[in-house]
Amino acid sequence: MTKKISHLGIAVESIEAAAPYYRDILGMAFEGTEVVAEQKVRVAFFVVGESRIELLEPTDENSPVARFLAKNGSGIHHVAYEVVDLAAELARLKAAGVRLVDEVPRLGAHGARIAFLHPQASGGVLTELCQPAGG
Ligand code: ZN
Repeated sequence: MTKKISHLGIAVESIEAAAPYYRDILGMAFEGTEVVAEQKVRVAFFVVGESRIELLEPTDENSPVARFLAKNGSGIHHVAYEVVDLAAELARLKAAGVRLVDEVPRLGAHGARIAFLHPQASGGVLTELCQPAGG
C-alpha cells in the first residue's frame, strides 16, 4: 500500500536556475543530480522531512518533460508515492480498472523502480508510484 509522499516532481527549464530557491532560500539539503536517460531528463533532489523535491530538467526536446514545459510552463509535474511492492500495486490497480501509463515498473532515479498512473485516474494529477532500490 501507499507509505508516504516520496517526492513532488517539479518541471523546470534549468536546474541551475531553480536550485538556489530550494537550497538557499528554503534551506533544503541538496542531494545531487542524476540523468535518467529513459525519461530524457536530468533530476535534482532536495530533502524536505521524509520526502523530496525533484526538479526535472529535459535533456532533449522530445522529452515528456519538455512537452510539459512547452504546454504549461514550469510547475508541479507529478506527485510520487512510495509503495512497498510496486509490481503488486500495479497489478492491484489494473485489476481495479485504474488507467496506467506504465503496466510494468521501469527504472527511475537512484535505482528506484517507478511507474506512472494516467492523470485521468486522479483528477488531472500525474501520479508516480515509487519503490526505492533495496526497499
Ligand atoms: Zn518523480
